[in-house]
Amino acid sequence: MMAVEQKNLTELQNFACELGADSAVLLDAKIIDVKENLAALCQNPRCPNYGVAASCPPHVGGPESLKKQLSSYTKALFFRIMAKKADVYSSKIHDIQGQIHTIAASLESKALELGFAKARGFAGGSCKNMFCADQPDCNVTAHNGPCRNPDLARPSMSGYGIDVSALAKAANWPPLVVQNGGADKEDFIPLYGLLIVG
Ligand code: SF4
Repeated sequence: MMAVEQKNLTELQNFACELGADSAVLLDAKIIDVKENLAALCQNPRCPNYGVAASCPPHVGGPESLKKQLSSYTKALFFRIMAKKADVYSSKIHDIQGQIHTIAASLESKALELGFAKARGFAGGSCKNMFCADQPDCNVTAHNGPCRNPDLARPSMSGYGIDVSALAKAANWPPLVVQNGGADKEDFIPLYGLLIVG
């Protein structure tokens, strides 16, 4: 890898944390595993967000399309936000997931600026709940129009069948709930986002 490319990747990694990620790791894109059975979980058992917005199935390309594209990607920047368990199971989840979308979108934009022409950001959860909650529908799926929030919303990793647990393992991050060692003994849950560059 050229020194300038490594420098730009490190800049993106640092930028993820400046944007609010708790941690961000650079991984080889080859380790991204895309599984049909994971994407199928969006439909069965049917997620309430299924079909609601352009960021979720059946409106995203899905595992087959991503598998074909992944061979031309070399690096993955995987990041996480540690959210309070109580917040994850409350209406605050939309703000937290919105932050993941915003970080992924900003990283993608920065990566494009740095010359990673194929950069793509991914997030989790439905952008309808986060950015278009006051709208009756998604402007893309309902009206074939442009996304109202192109600088914020990114496609769902679940919709593409991305094996997020495998990425967390590769990052050496503990799965699911982590108990804070502090006096409050609060539990935290990691929420993830991803940038891929070629
Ligand atoms: S218009 Fe709103 S709901 Fe549709 S993709 Fe964009 S942010 Fe998501």
